[in-house]
Amino acid sequence: MDFRVLTIFPDLFVPFWNHGMIRRAIDQGRITAAAIDIRDHADGRHRVTDDRPYGGGSGMVMKPEPLSRAISKAKEQVPEAVTVLLSPRGRVFDQQAARELATVGGLILVCGRYEGVDERICRTSIDLEVSVGDYVLTGGEIAAMIVIDAVVRLLPGVLGGADSAQKDSFSEDLLEHGHYTRPAEYMGEAVPEVLLSGHHGEIENWRREMSLVQTVLKRPDLLESRPLDRRAIQVLKKWGRTIERIVDAQDRGCADPSSGDESKG
Ligand code: SAM
Repeated sequence: MDFRVLTIFPDLFVPFWNHGMIRRAIDQGRITAAAIDIRDHADGRHRVTDDRPYGGGSGMVMKPEPLSRAISKAKEQVPEAVTVLLSPRGRVFDQQAARELATVGGLILVCGRYEGVDERICRTSIDLEVSVGDYVLTGGEIAAMIVIDAVVRLLPGVLGGADSAQKDSFSEDLLEHGHYTRPAEYMGEAVPEVLLSGHHGEIENWRREMSLVQTVLKRPDLLESRPLDRRAIQVLKKWGRTIERIVDAQDRGCADPSSGDESKG
């Protein structure tokens, strides 16, 4: 898969391309990745890429012509690419979006700066706007790195362990179970015994169960929108009964609110 990033700060991507999984994916020929400097497509000696907003107001806006030329250059290199503008008003990027983008031939990622890009670029040259969350960054570069990282690790053969990406959080719309490594005891806390048992079936069951528990505790919204199989329902009911038992026992032990001390209720 081919990635082209359009930015006024191409140097930010040098360390990104040169480390870890992205480096390996490039070396193995699974991806090509390059930053295109928008300034190289700007006019004049000063290579200006921004200008004041029509209608007044603070901040600058990225001019359409350099962006449009830079996008054309990227499309020459990767004709089949989807052109994505990183933008706080875009589709919020999640694992499903990463899965969808991992199936396309290439990505051209346009990084805004200042107040953003001239609106006409969005209409004429952008296939999709993507936000990495409901907050505002100073520029699209970090957002582009997030998208590239999440997409590349889904490409066939990129991750070391054949099934690592399949077991990640969100791969089944569930959070992942906890992980443990040596030492077997740390700060008085032991590794769950089942993980030392060598019993693969039980370890798998435990991991699945903990995955459901993590999800119900931290992101119950994920379970609401997802069909659960019989086993998952049994596990959640079991945990539900345990929680109910603990709460009931505590409730029975509570001071009677009518006794006057309501602050303990
Ligand atoms: N004025 C814009 C607004 O209120 O929506 C914010 C512009 S922001 C300071 C500059 C650039 O950072 C944007 O054009 C976009 O490329 C990038 N950016 C900021 N927040 C982002 C987010 N949550 N997701 C993706 N890109 C973002």
